[in-house]
Amino acid sequence: EDDHFQSSDMSYDKLLGGLLAPGFKEGSCLSRYQSSLYRKTSPHKPSSYLLSRLRNYEDLHKRCGPYTKSYNRTVQQLRSGDIISSEDSLECKYVVWISFSGLGNRILTVASAFLYAILTNRVLLIDPGKDMPDLFCEPFPETSWFLPTDFPLKSKFDLFEQKTPNSYGNMVKKNMLNTSAQLFPSYLYLHLVHDYDDNDKLLFCDQDQELVSKVPWLIMKSDNYFVPSLFLSPSFGQELSRLFPQKATVFYHLSRYLFHPSNQVWGLITRYYQTYLAKADERIGIQVRVFEYKTGPYQHVMDQILACTLKHKVLPEISQKEQPLVPSSKPKSKAVLVTSLSSGYFENLRNMYWENPTVSGDLIGVYQPSHEEFQQTEKRLHNRKAWAEMYLLSLTDVLVTSAWSTFGYVAQGLGGLKPLILLKPENHTVPDPPCLQVISMEPCFHAPPFYDCKTKSGADTGKIVPHVRHCEDMSWGLKLV
Ligand code: GDP
Repeated sequence: EDDHFQSSDMSYDKLLGGLLAPGFKEGSCLSRYQSSLYRKTSPHKPSSYLLSRLRNYEDLHKRCGPYTKSYNRTVQQLRSGDIISSEDSLECKYVVWISFSGLGNRILTVASAFLYAILTNRVLLIDPGKDMPDLFCEPFPETSWFLPTDFPLKSKFDLFEQKTPNSYGNMVKKNMLNTSAQLFPSYLYLHLVHDYDDNDKLLFCDQDQELVSKVPWLIMKSDNYFVPSLFLSPSFGQELSRLFPQKATVFYHLSRYLFHPSNQVWGLITRYYQTYLAKADERIGIQVRVFEYKTGPYQHVMDQILACTLKHKVLPEISQKEQPLVPSSKPKSKAVLVTSLSSGYFENLRNMYWENPTVSGDLIGVYQPSHEEFQQTEKRLHNRKAWAEMYLLSLTDVLVTSAWSTFGYVAQGLGGLKPLILLKPENHTVPDPPCLQVISMEPCFHAPPFYDCKTKSGADTGKIVPHVRHCEDMSWGLKLV
């Protein structure tokens, strides 16, 4: 409806192949319609089945969203006591996502929770936490995905943890749930944080999903991209294959559908891109995340970055000759975007390409938007910058990321990029090889269950189906390929 684009602008696919629903006011979320101006044409088309499920989801969300009749009725049920009869079929059931952990983790868990909601015909509501509305636009038309602040259980969110009696795992352990019962709890807490136990992990089994399906409110806390385990469930697996015939595009499509930077963040992204990156012949992203007590810079990390980027010809060699080389007639300009909490790696690279000519004659510009020194979850601009930087990395042509980092996974998934991943250094030495090219652009599930629901025994979940494998950067992790 509200279409301000001129016909000359229509050459690009602003709805991303039908992934995005029309019907939003453009000014309220500029990134939704402008993102395609910054990206190459996508080689991955969403399936028509995914598109139809998204449109159905949007209808459901509109019917069940905050303060609708159905929402109010279901909240009433929650207030009026802990149990409902299984006969009483409510129109709307919910997954509530609790805001938890770093921003990269949060983006991965919102995507996982949304996919779980689609698979179970539930409505996803997002706890705004400290800054979610400041960072992201509303993804669903004519409704809100934010959980109202007067939601009855809200004050308990911070207290929910592995030992919470209402958690699925603890209810199972105490045998308090069974299919033949007439009464069910009105809510369950799903603890999917990395410290979850074997009972919590049963949630990924089909028979357990049947139990959970009766409960109107599922309150979820997670810091993991648990999508690979959904693919291991036979009932979800079938549906997922229809939704994603190209299995390793789950996060790619869902992230482009869900995560639109707010106008403030979009300003950070576009100003930076246009000033420093747009004019280069090639854009290179290097995401440096060091999991050490101190931010650094560390010499072994610098050595690793150089070993990786020179070996794989991401960056050109510098000339050892004292005399500068005769400049090539048409030097290529390359913009290197470095993101890190520390500025040391960036300064090193920038000086290296200023103080020395490159063998190829290429001109290397090195840029780093921020160096925040340490993780500061309370500061508003801090997470705006973190989100802007993830997004900017996703707009590069060649990407280098750090092992174990969800910040890097978001950039690679959103950008549809298969980065070189800097492997985790042990004992402050450069690993050999320093980096590997990942086999798919999907994020890694860091804490997957090792349990076969069918045989009810331990199993290597990276060996059950061909499209769920162990990750390049974490041998026990799981990812879609
Ligand atoms: P992960 O810890 O690497 O998996 O990523 P998360 O995003 O979950 O948590 C790390 C947090 O530290 C981010 O959300 C940022 O707040 C901050 N951070 C880490 N690396 C960077 C960076 O390169 N730039 C900025 N701006 N913030 C960063």
